[in-house]
Amino acid sequence: MFNRKYLVVTLVLMKRFLSLACFLFLVAYMLLTISTAKAEKVSATWGAIKNGSGIKAAPSTSLAKKVLIHYPKGKIQKLPGNDKKGKTGCGTDQYSKYEYPKIHWVSGDIPVHWSYDRANEKASKALKSIQASFDTWTLVEPAWQTTYDGQAKTGKIPVGERDGINSVCWRRLDQYPNAIAITIIWYIRNSKKAVEIDTYFKSTIPWSTTGALDAYDVQNIATHEFGHWLVLDDLYKNCTSELTMFGYSNPGEIEKRDLGMGDILGIQKIY
Ligand SMILES: [Zn+2]
Repeated sequence: MFNRKYLVVTLVLMKRFLSLACFLFLVAYMLLTISTAKAEKVSATWGAIKNGSGIKAAPSTSLAKKVLIHYPKGKIQKLPGNDKKGKTGCGTDQYSKYEYPKIHWVSGDIPVHWSYDRANEKASKALKSIQASFDTWTLVEPAWQTTYDGQAKTGKIPVGERDGINSVCWRRLDQYPNAIAITIIWYIRNSKKAVEIDTYFKSTIPWSTTGALDAYDVQNIATHEFGHWLVLDDLYKNCTSELTMFGYSNPGEIEKRDLGMGDILGIQKIY
């Protein structure tokens, strides 16, 4: 009987002890789980900061796009600015001005390959004029070269989107109602390395390859646009009006077919 009494007391005590132990274990487990989750969260945040994914900086390889629109002179009410009078060659093709936006082709990407899309072409023998326009620049600076890859149907690509082909083509350009032609260049934002370029001639206006007075001359406009290919910027001041990179043109104009002093100095500066 004596043993039985002690056995019962012992069992009761053990039950209470086990309940308490279970309770303490449960509390300890919960505390441990919470602190582990917190530690993991802190660690994840630190990892994000450390590897840069928590910072909203543009990657160094992100692309930028530059759109150059060529307008008729007739649309100009007033030129945006005037150079000082008396500058050597002001208003002639001996004027030495050029603008270089620092976007450029690296030597490994030269010759720059290009393709032609004949769809909606508005002048016969336009391709011959376009090739002559490329040659005008490459003859002046042999370090700048292009290679014609033949015809490509780039017509399904919306204007302003990349397709990996440097192309010359004809489009309605409804989104640029007053334009004669536009050139779009894509480049790496940080390094300014050019990666793709496309020229679009507006197919809803008259064109000619013979300098006809009532139409835009293909070679005249193409030589200007291909100055953007290498990459020169538009010029707008009065003194630059006879240079190929002057930003406006008239129907029948052919003076941009050959280069002026500023155009030549520009390509020689870049390449
Ligand atoms: Zn231009």
